[in-house]
Amino acid sequence: MATYKNPETIALHGGDYRSDPATTAVAVPIYQTTSYQFKNAETAANLFGLKEFGNIYTRIMNPTVDVLEKRVAALEGGAAALAVGSGQAASAYCVQNLAQTGDNIVASTDLYGGTVNLFKNTLRQQGIEVRFADPADPKNFEKLTDDKTRAYYGESCPNPYLRVFPIKEVADIGRKKGIPLIIDNTAAPIICKPLEHGATIVMHSLTKYIGGHGTSIGGIIVDGGNFDWIKDRKRQPLLNEPDQSYGGAVWADAVPVLTGANIPFIIRARVVLLRDLGAPLSPFNAWQIIQGLETVGLRMKQHCSNAEKVVAFLETQKKVKNVIYPTNHQGEIKDRALRYMKGGYGSLVGMDLGTIENGAKFINNLKMFYHVANIGDARSLAIHPASTTHSQLPPKDQLAAGVTPGYVRLSIGIEHPDDIIADIRQSLAA
Ligand code: PLP
Repeated sequence: MATYKNPETIALHGGDYRSDPATTAVAVPIYQTTSYQFKNAETAANLFGLKEFGNIYTRIMNPTVDVLEKRVAALEGGAAALAVGSGQAASAYCVQNLAQTGDNIVASTDLYGGTVNLFKNTLRQQGIEVRFADPADPKNFEKLTDDKTRAYYGESCPNPYLRVFPIKEVADIGRKKGIPLIIDNTAAPIICKPLEHGATIVMHSLTKYIGGHGTSIGGIIVDGGNFDWIKDRKRQPLLNEPDQSYGGAVWADAVPVLTGANIPFIIRARVVLLRDLGAPLSPFNAWQIIQGLETVGLRMKQHCSNAEKVVAFLETQKKVKNVIYPTNHQGEIKDRALRYMKGGYGSLVGMDLGTIENGAKFINNLKMFYHVANIGDARSLAIHPASTTHSQLPPKDQLAAGVTPGYVRLSIGIEHPDDIIADIRQSLAA
């Protein structure tokens, strides 16, 4: 198979798929099956014993999902990937694949609210502590690290603050200690390549830009294949201690021998977590997401260019007190946007309209924008967090999360920029 460097080409031709081996179909077929006929008893035994890799059961692998996994891995410059049923499942598996009861991870304070809930509540109930570090100073990650710290976790371009994460700075701190950096790159496919800056694992909610059409929930985890898991074996016990559920296999040793690749993280996530916790991506959703993936390069260009036009327009509007965008920060925070994002700064734009009433009124008067709790759709979307997603939080906690009373989050779509601006203009006027 040819390999390609450019993301627009990888999105269409990346991974191993050229045409369907059974029918020569060019479009990726939907393999809507639960199971696969084994050639004979010996092959079946080898597949179960991981002596041979192949299809066993769709909870663990599926040929349609496999194409998506290989393409997204190629797009991120990673070694292998695992698709799962949602972005939430991807976040949970990333942590659960490294940390167990009594362990901790250090995560950025700037995270998607669903991730915060998972980290503060459900993982804690499972005995995994998440410590939160302000990414303004990468050293905060080091300060919260101890012998039980198994991973660092951040988001490349988190809303509402839209402060780009210090990827290399935190990855470098972690690599010295045997701690991998996990980056949620949902908001910045193509324009941010966390693995190139030292991250080890990248995850996406496929529900957003990669799917792009607002039809299907999905998530994916990419293993960079770039981490030394055995340098400090005590640091990563789940990959370095015998796994009794696989006859005492030590993943960090066994996987490179079995696969020829340094991917124990993603293999364990598949054959242990997906096997036991079971949140696979359905073949149909994988197929829908592949249709989106094929045009994500084109869409990201339009999303970013439209967002920049919207930012320029909002900055001329008296009713808008503040415009939040990755490049509107100052100093080091702005420099991070310039360092870590290429070809654009994403489609998320924040605007502060001063009061809770103004924010709600603006939303009510929009005609083309959809009022939804989503981002990354081809359509333009808006939400007023203070009266919706963050309304249960006391005002102090809302402010800490970057949600001022008049904050409106826009996810700029790929419509004509004049129509997007016209809708914002008429709603501001109203
Ligand atoms: N990560 C980010 C940055 C998100 O915005 C979301 C959803 O909004 C998720 C993860 C969770 O993804 P999903 O809704 O696919 O479970």
